[in-house]
Amino acid sequence: MSSARLPGGAAQPLSLRQSEARDRADRIEVTSYDVSLDLDRGDETFGSVSTIDLVSLGGPTFLEIQPASLLSVTVNDFPVDLSRHQGGRVPIDTEPGSNRVVVDAVMTYRHDGEGLHRSVDPADGRHYVYAMPFLDAAPSIFGCFDQPDLKAEWRFRTRVPRDWVVIGNSPATELEPGVWEIGPTLPLPTYLVALVAGPYHVVRTEHDGIPLGLSARASIAAHLDHDAEEIFTVTAQCFDEFHRLFEIRYPFGDYHQAFVPEFNAGAMESAGCVTFRDPMIFQSRVVRTFHTLRASTIAHEMAHMWFGDIVTPRWWDDLWLNESFAEYMGARVTADATEFEDVWVSEAYSRRSWGLSADQRPSTHPVAGNGAEDAATALQNFDGISYAKGAGILKQLNSHLGDEVFFGGVRDHFQRHRFANATMVDLLEAWERAGAEDLAGFRDGWLLSAGPDTLELDRASGLIRLTPPPGERAGRHHALAVAAAPADRTGTWRVQRLVVDSDTVPVTVPTGAVVLDPEIETWAVTLPDASTLAALPDVLSTSTDPLLRASVWLSVRNALQHARLDPALALDLLAAALPHEDTDDGVGQTLAWALGAVVPVSQDPVAARARVHETAAACVAASQAGSTLQLAAFQGQVSACQEPALLRNWLAAGDRLPEGVVVDLDLRWRILVQLAVRGAIDRDELAAQLADEVTAVSQVEHAKALAALPDAAAKSWAWARFTGEVEVPNYELEAIGLGVWQVGQEHLTDPYVERYFEDLPATAEVRTGYLLAQSVGDFYPRWSINAGTVERARSLLGREDLDPVLRREVVDFTWDLERRLAVVEAFGSSGAIKP
Ligand SMILES: [Zn+2]
Repeated sequence: MSSARLPGGAAQPLSLRQSEARDRADRIEVTSYDVSLDLDRGDETFGSVSTIDLVSLGGPTFLEIQPASLLSVTVNDFPVDLSRHQGGRVPIDTEPGSNRVVVDAVMTYRHDGEGLHRSVDPADGRHYVYAMPFLDAAPSIFGCFDQPDLKAEWRFRTRVPRDWVVIGNSPATELEPGVWEIGPTLPLPTYLVALVAGPYHVVRTEHDGIPLGLSARASIAAHLDHDAEEIFTVTAQCFDEFHRLFEIRYPFGDYHQAFVPEFNAGAMESAGCVTFRDPMIFQSRVVRTFHTLRASTIAHEMAHMWFGDIVTPRWWDDLWLNESFAEYMGARVTADATEFEDVWVSEAYSRRSWGLSADQRPSTHPVAGNGAEDAATALQNFDGISYAKGAGILKQLNSHLGDEVFFGGVRDHFQRHRFANATMVDLLEAWERAGAEDLAGFRDGWLLSAGPDTLELDRASGLIRLTPPPGERAGRHHALAVAAAPADRTGTWRVQRLVVDSDTVPVTVPTGAVVLDPEIETWAVTLPDASTLAALPDVLSTSTDPLLRASVWLSVRNALQHARLDPALALDLLAAALPHEDTDDGVGQTLAWALGAVVPVSQDPVAARARVHETAAACVAASQAGSTLQLAAFQGQVSACQEPALLRNWLAAGDRLPEGVVVDLDLRWRILVQLAVRGAIDRDELAAQLADEVTAVSQVEHAKALAALPDAAAKSWAWARFTGEVEVPNYELEAIGLGVWQVGQEHLTDPYVERYFEDLPATAEVRTGYLLAQSVGDFYPRWSINAGTVERARSLLGREDLDPVLRREVVDFTWDLERRLAVVEAFGSSGAIKP
């Protein structure tokens, strides 16, 4: 099965260029789509007929379609010569005035989470389908004019097996058994079209006149029922808050949230029918981090109903605005309106690190005006910069302008461009009309320049030093707090507020620890000075402010990444401080960081892993039995565990399993994967474990375990999946990549370092889009931390024929590897803090 070989003519589809989109929008206006899909003709292909009404100035243009076979295209009933179908495009001639274009084709289901994705649930063999047209995959579902500023009304008529339900942008009506009709919708671009079809389990309720729905696979129906109340509550609370802030009611009728299988992203904001990855329906006990993430994802997608769906960017170069805005509003509304008021702490441990890393990598780009000349480039800019950094600077702008001006501008923007398209300039003008002073400084300093500034305390000189990113001099203003630890453990912190807007700013330096930006208010890399670093065990174990502790851990991560902190000292800090941490985020995400970032660069990774294990065990001991804090710690302990006997004891719920811990589906597979890494389980037993409870989760974890086994057959099995010689669904591919490279298995994996760089270029022939980019990092030889691997990467990058998607990912992952190498080289023999 696969996806990836894109049908659609001899050549790969051409990516739409911004100039082409502009010309086409000048020539035509699409008024409506009427799409008929036949999903009841087997599991390989489906029928697709789109009838498109448009108004044209007349003359030539083109539509996009990537069919298995193109049956006919007509314009005003005249047939189009199909031999002109090239690169996913069909050139057509239009008449001045009204035109009707009809495209009839057989299309291929995809299995890579894009287009019309079809999957089989291993739990019961039932088939599920959903549409993922974003960013430019709509033409693999139906013939269309695929650009964000050609918005139209949509009607769908879908034929499906009789036991399926169909859900879309508007309520679906079953006209006769197996025939469903949706629409007409409000004006929507192609990328926001939704279609969810299959034997889904559906739960419904209503809030404030808005019908609400949830759906998930039948095999996880009980889990959806269990989680429904929490999801509906968050949804209702967020609707109330968005209505209060935006003063425009949600316009798309009912609001459905579909949890669908093998979804690549967290979720997609299709109007009226959001699709989420279905691991967000919890089949095992999870830590609070995941409840918080689910709530903020729900809020993020709801924010898009206004920002993206009511007002849509004209071109993909402004799509950051959708994401930055949804990310900021998602966190803010979650914090203010739901029980997950600690979302900013959670974001500090996860999203902010992601964004800061992305902003320091070679591929960094300005938040806005990211230079996306075509759709394929735009997709690559959906990184930590468009989300986390963009959200961070919108939060800064909000605190600078205040809510009255900020939301005044936003409401003006929504009203002016309702159901149409707009640009960044339109929004900046709306803010200025609402009373914002000249925003040029904000635009130039934060939106149009790349890379983070670095802030450090120069204790001897009594200065905060600002170092701009290489080659940039953005002239940014950082408004932040500086917190000084009390002299004794029971005293209070002294906080001074500063604006850092030049290379050095004087500051009153007390003795003891100083935390820069404890409230995480400004976008910058903060580094702890040596005295502060030495005092951190005390700071972290006595501070009662979880956001300050998150800020400290961020600075510790930065220090390691910049080779300013010995990994051995990072482990000391972990051991001293983490058993005092009382948030799931602090324990769980810091243990995960220790295993992923500290252990591999440690002089003795086995001993380092044992220290993480000890620390995790201490956290388990310090937590309440049965709490999610205990679960966060125990998950870390399992991942760090190197003793097969202990893993076996846990698996059998033996006497060493901490009281309050239950080995459920998730924990069982965490333990099994670690047994596989240690070679303490064989393939037969893994197969038996899978057979014992066949779920989509166990299928994926089973694949990870197979790839992690310490023998040559396991690595060669994994490699056949990487190269595409054997095709597997997207989640399994990712799991295999995460399983195949294990610290300590170098004797088995070393030959694959060279092969990775040899085999990678050809993966562009078997994969596309999200999965092509994702698998570069999943399979990158990240633990081969030596100059030879860096050299091999450079040599691959020297090849001119390397696919640009692959190139960008290899550049970034090689930069990450060089950072690890710098740490290893800096702390190879000594254990001191590097000044
Ligand atoms: Zn989004």
